[in-house]
Amino acid sequence: KKIIIAIDGYSSTGKSTMAKQLARALGYIYVDTGAMYRAVTLYALQKGYIDENDFRKDALVADLKAIDLSFKYNPELQYSEMYLNGSNVEKEIRTLEVSGYVSQISVVPEVRQKLVALQQEMGREKGLVMDGRDIGTVVFPHAELKIFMTASPDIRATRRYKELLDRGALISYEEVLENVQKRDFLDSNREHSPLKKAEDAIVMDNSAMSQKEQFERALSLVQM
Ligand code: C5P
Repeated sequence: KKIIIAIDGYSSTGKSTMAKQLARALGYIYVDTGAMYRAVTLYALQKGYIDENDFRKDALVADLKAIDLSFKYNPELQYSEMYLNGSNVEKEIRTLEVSGYVSQISVVPEVRQKLVALQQEMGREKGLVMDGRDIGTVVFPHAELKIFMTASPDIRATRRYKELLDRGALISYEEVLENVQKRDFLDSNREHSPLKKAEDAIVMDNSAMSQKEQFERALSLVQM
């Protein structure tokens, strides 16, 4: 029987790596909801609704209808990539610039409403692994399996730093650590849909787990 698997947790805990592996192994669809918040952030940056001095929230909200988000499966990578108004934005949404603004965009209730509705629509057919911050609490409170991922801030920042370096970004470890901690603080303390563990979620602290161990643990939970 196909189920819905909700994976929530702090930034850079390896949610998406594990979610992708699970989806592949089970023949499920994988949805990265962080990519959706990042795509809206990229749009706001492109339109000049947000910069370091100013956030014109009302202008963004008034323009939300113009934002078309979709995922397209890339058979080479074996996962779906994020499209914003028809363009593949998978690379642009992963920059530290977008990471720096995304928590401000994701507090806006109208943004959350739009994205949660889209996410629930994608879950109408089961056989779905979705990762984010509020999947087990808000998007799918009745998901059959909920996993909450955590790891120490240092481990998370080190992982994210390596990822960004591999992509050729010019950044320091300290900048990455600061971004990871700031986002966790903002995500956990916002008014709407704060990041928190669902009561029935299983906690996985992967500070000392390999990717293989995490994947095997998650797969054993599915088969329970
Ligand atoms: O998962 P990722 O780190 O790419 O998410 C980027 C940001 O998007 C988070 O820091 C959070 O502010 C927001 N987010 C959210 N709710 C989700 C997924 C992501 O608020 N379900």
